[in-house]
Amino acid sequence: MAKTRKEPGYLKLHQGGILLQRAEAARGLLTDCRLCPHGCGVCRLHGKLGLCRTGARARVASYGPHFGEEAPLVGTHGSGAIFFEGCTLLCVFCQNHDISHIDKRGDDSPRAVTDRELAEIMLKLQEQGCHNINFVTPTHVVPQILAALPRAVERGLRVPLVYNSGGYDSRETLKLLDGIIDIYMPDCKFMTPETAGRYTRAPDYPEIMQRAVREMHRQTGDLVLDDTGLAVRGLLARHLVMPGHLDETDRILAFLAGLSKESYVNIMEQYRPCHRATGYPPINRPVSREEYSGALDLAARHRLRRLELRDWRQLLNRLFSRSEC
Ligand code: SF4
Repeated sequence: MAKTRKEPGYLKLHQGGILLQRAEAARGLLTDCRLCPHGCGVCRLHGKLGLCRTGARARVASYGPHFGEEAPLVGTHGSGAIFFEGCTLLCVFCQNHDISHIDKRGDDSPRAVTDRELAEIMLKLQEQGCHNINFVTPTHVVPQILAALPRAVERGLRVPLVYNSGGYDSRETLKLLDGIIDIYMPDCKFMTPETAGRYTRAPDYPEIMQRAVREMHRQTGDLVLDDTGLAVRGLLARHLVMPGHLDETDRILAFLAGLSKESYVNIMEQYRPCHRATGYPPINRPVSREEYSGALDLAARHRLRRLELRDWRQLLNRLFSRSEC
């Protein structure tokens, strides 16, 4: 596995003026929003809201050093997580439904931030020693992130950028991020339209997710770590094992193995029936120990060898972090 220290790609693009061009192109997409595959077609610059319930401004629910992420992101000082409100998937089992499933609050929300404020948040996280800036649920606020970046870079931002999405990203929007995002962290959820349509607002999720993950991998390659084990660039895929859906796990791991045998994958076991999941059997119960170990067996069968392994620190973090639902 290659180990190297590398300057984040966005610095070079900023020097060449490309960062500003990308920010302008992304902002243009908000007038007739086709930013994500839903293609709502609303003018978000004039207060209209689509499925993600987000207008011209990003809304930040919270931010800070996060120690519950994958080891290559957390290091010693944490991953600098910025949690955005709103979402394009609206999963019935969402653990963060209090910030993802929100009604119309748009730009009037006290959580709406300007480009300058978003840049300041990034810089504050870097000053706190965070090893990266981790944009959580960023799909619907790509233009706002791009607009804030030049200001942050001019004021000294130098840490890698992490795009932490549910995988429902349009390839066209991802192309605007080419060379800017250092680490892509998609959550690969489902592989059949029936399952995706039952639990999310996106029955076309499997096709879109696979296309998006291929594009993410094309841009950044397999995950590369530096000498200290921190992620500097590449794809870090997640998959949350769902009760009664090991067949989906099998197909997702096959897809990731087909992408590269060097795919770095976090197979997550912490599913709980949150939000409205109690009304959706079989996901109305936690994942069993047998199901989780079955998922690990499947990873071995697909010869995926770069798996995120839990350690005591992560386990404690999960046990004492915010309530699961
Ligand atoms: S980003 Fe929001 S408004 Fe735009 S297409 Fe997606 S869900 Fe609709």
